[in-house]
Amino acid sequence: MPISSASEMLRRATEEGYAIGAFNVTSFVQMLAVVEAATAKRAPVIIQTSVTPTLFFGPSTIAAACRAFADDAPVPVCLHLDHCTDVELCKRCVDAGYTNIMIDGSQLDFDCNIAVTREIVEYCHSAGDVSVEGELGTVSGVEDQVAVVEDEAALCPVDKAVEFVERSGVDVFAPAIGTAHGVYTTPDPKIDFRRLEEIVQLLARREPRTPVVIHGGTGLGADIVRRLVGLGGSKFNVSTDLKHVLIDTTADYLAQHRESYNPGKLDSAVKEAHVARIGEWIELLGSTGRA
Ligand SMILES: [Zn+2]
Repeated sequence: MPISSASEMLRRATEEGYAIGAFNVTSFVQMLAVVEAATAKRAPVIIQTSVTPTLFFGPSTIAAACRAFADDAPVPVCLHLDHCTDVELCKRCVDAGYTNIMIDGSQLDFDCNIAVTREIVEYCHSAGDVSVEGELGTVSGVEDQVAVVEDEAALCPVDKAVEFVERSGVDVFAPAIGTAHGVYTTPDPKIDFRRLEEIVQLLARREPRTPVVIHGGTGLGADIVRRLVGLGGSKFNVSTDLKHVLIDTTADYLAQHRESYNPGKLDSAVKEAHVARIGEWIELLGSTGRA
């Protein structure tokens, strides 16, 4: 089916109480694996590229490949630009065919964050069916996670969330609640569930309800993931986990087949490992059978 924006699939997920996996990829084998896993699970899915792989291949190449995969897939597929602070790159990705853009103004002060986010919202909405994700508060790396949670000022202020959404016009909202990028070093990371619950409740009073994103999915226990989805997280970002699948599977394959020089078999091994792991995420997030 034609490539989709994020807003419609995420609004439905929000209403029906499940989350859609948003998987960061750095290669076309990974991109193929996301689509195959989503197809096998009959799940809507979001493919994401962060800025480095976006520039490595170029936005046009990534968008063309993703659109071709989406066209052939029987499930909705969205292509999302992740954590971009560069307004011009956001616009290039829209022009290339990305269908959801995250403009990350979270390091700016409140009014500047709104202004830069608003600029991308206007560009995306005038370009057609392209939705926008904005962030308020700081999603840290795991090395800073505890410090960020203990410093309330770094998290999304509950009383500013609705104002941010209304003034910026974002379609999808990422509040910092203490989740972090990377692999958690503790099985019990500090996450402000109450803050998420309050933000979701405030947004639920508006129509249409703005979907809420959970960043930093890698390494969270299944119970924590289910709790975050149950509280209203409807886009769930998974990045580091797939980097580990890619590197570990490649290393294992090479250890066992060092003399074979058959890159097709290596690609197949990497793809199958990703399909399996992404399938597990889709099951955990509750999006199986939702396409
Ligand atoms: Zn993130």
